[in-house]
Amino acid sequence: MPRYDAPIRDMRFILQEVLQIQNYSNLPGFEEVTPDLVSAILEEGGKFAKEVLYPLNAVGDRQGCVRSDDASVKTPDGFPDAYKQLVEGGWPLLSVDPEMGGQGLPHVVNIAWTEMVSSANMAFGMYPGLTHGAFQALMAGGSDELKAKYGPKMASAEWAGTMNLTEPQCGTDLGLIKTKAVPQPDGTYKITGQKIWISGGEQDLTENIIHLVLARIEGGPEGIKGISLFLVPKYMVGEDGSIGERNACSCGGLEEKMGIHGNATCVMNYDGATGFLVGEEHKGMRTMFVMMNEARLGVGLQGLSQAELAYQNAADFARDRVQGRSLTGVKSPDQPADPIIVHPDVRRMLMDQKAFIEGARCFTYWTAFQADLQHKAPEEGVREKSSDYMALLTPVVKAYLTHKGYECANWALQLHGGSGFTREWGMEQIVRDCRITTIYEGTNGVQALDLVGRKLAANGGRAVFSFFSDVDEFVAANEGNEELALFVEGLQSIKAELQEGTMWLMQNGMSDFNNAGASSHDYLHLFGLTALAYMWAQMAKVALESKGKEPFYEQKLATGRYFVERLLPDGAAHLAKVKTGAAPLMDLEADAF
Ligand SMILES: Cc1cc2nc3c(=O)[nH]c(=O)nc-3n(C[C@H](O)[C@H](O)[C@H](O)COP(=O)(O)OP(=O)(O)OC[C@H]3O[C@@H](n4cnc5c(N)ncnc54)[C@H](O)[C@@H]3O)c2cc1C
Repeated sequence: MPRYDAPIRDMRFILQEVLQIQNYSNLPGFEEVTPDLVSAILEEGGKFAKEVLYPLNAVGDRQGCVRSDDASVKTPDGFPDAYKQLVEGGWPLLSVDPEMGGQGLPHVVNIAWTEMVSSANMAFGMYPGLTHGAFQALMAGGSDELKAKYGPKMASAEWAGTMNLTEPQCGTDLGLIKTKAVPQPDGTYKITGQKIWISGGEQDLTENIIHLVLARIEGGPEGIKGISLFLVPKYMVGEDGSIGERNACSCGGLEEKMGIHGNATCVMNYDGATGFLVGEEHKGMRTMFVMMNEARLGVGLQGLSQAELAYQNAADFARDRVQGRSLTGVKSPDQPADPIIVHPDVRRMLMDQKAFIEGARCFTYWTAFQADLQHKAPEEGVREKSSDYMALLTPVVKAYLTHKGYECANWALQLHGGSGFTREWGMEQIVRDCRITTIYEGTNGVQALDLVGRKLAANGGRAVFSFFSDVDEFVAANEGNEELALFVEGLQSIKAELQEGTMWLMQNGMSDFNNAGASSHDYLHLFGLTALAYMWAQMAKVALESKGKEPFYEQKLATGRYFVERLLPDGAAHLAKVKTGAAPLMDLEADAF
């Protein structure tokens, strides 16, 4: 039967041995992150994920959410109780500022916890996940009054938060938003319109739901420049924080969908609902981006977390299932056939997953650590560089990790043979659940455009040049290390390919924007591979220093070698495709398809 066990050893390796977060006690919130504390959080979090959330994963998939005629929504059996335990355990408060009642621990520690939740039950994890994003947006753009009234309850996830962008005529292109906001004499706004596919728009987990809604103030500018952000509570909240009357917003229907059945995907109707402006008029996108960027990292993490869940079960299956004999002679003479893990092609499927997952975990945590540095580092230069990295790498984390994560989930299913296609083994649910990650929060195609169209050129290319020089510094510092040579040379060559692709884009992307659009997908994948190569080189260095202490380090090095020898060669194909330019894609007329 499928299982989930949090990969705590690997998480500790990254947090404590690679990033060494315990050495940053000069940063607020890091003073207390001793190895013991981190281990305790990971152990307890892993237990919660395994014992409380994972058993509800299949239940949520089979039952789904149900809407009643009164527009209320019931989540699957066990979800309300698990949510109550999550809130009572104080988990959503891990990295929240103490001023809002939180523990103020590093964001990167919270990311490890979030990974566990998302592996154990992705549909469930979206409720607190989006709430955290909405809370961050409120903190970034809300007035002091709004923050005081809604902040603490959203921080603890006692009240949930949602994100309302999409409308029937408007998905990627938010400039098409029609939802209308009419100013009222008391300073509030009446919000009218329909939003679709709103995750957690209605549910029975929390006593209030705080919707963050993008709308156009009547008479405001056309397009994206006329969009404002509003806080619209399901129930009005009194001055003393008490729950008041019902606001004029409700769930008009639930989407039937391919996966994440435990998460209510709602049509939300706003019928003159009372809304409060968050940030400035017509500048709503600026604040919404705080939530969207947080959600993009969260979605990248979903790709990784589903790959991890699938991989654990694929590895178990490969050890248990016996079929055929090893190509080099019988390995299990006491059995009628050998376990399929003896077959090189089965190994390929497992190793592809393992090498991606461990590299991607390091990359995600490293990026999350940049978020901590961006806000907490005392040196302005460090804050600026981390902020550049967050902007540059967010689309890479979102799109690369979800694309490859979904691929891994499919390899895990494939490894199971026919069992993978049946419900009992749990793989088909993972593939269905994971599929949405490449689509929502900005499709992966749109992430790639964001990378080549906006992020590369920002501040004269400052972020990407910093990245290149950090990689160069690592290479220069480790060039003489013979044991590390494979990793250093692999990093050097993929970085040269990325640099060549970047130069090609700079020379050809501006003269014909279709060149940039045509190369964006492959460029993003080349970037993802380079980022993982950088992570693998750092992990290998640490593992070499500790080699012999426990088998973990030898295994880490073997997995890293596989990454360099079997996954990095894809970089050359991506570069070749970057450099074809637009012609092969744009030659045919639309009616030829
Ligand atoms: C289960 C689920 C949950 C969701 N949750 C939320 C939520 O909580 N809140 C919310 O607001 N929304 C939510 N969404 C909506 C989601 O974010 C959108 O579906 C997504 O952003 C894509 O928009 P679209 O579906 O309208 O596709 P479209 O924008 O119509 O895109 C269709 C295709 O065209 C491509 N495309 C579009 N424009 C361009 C371009 N300029 N250049 C290149 N390619 C382009 C896209 O990549 C895509 O492949 C959810 C959706 C689902 C299915």
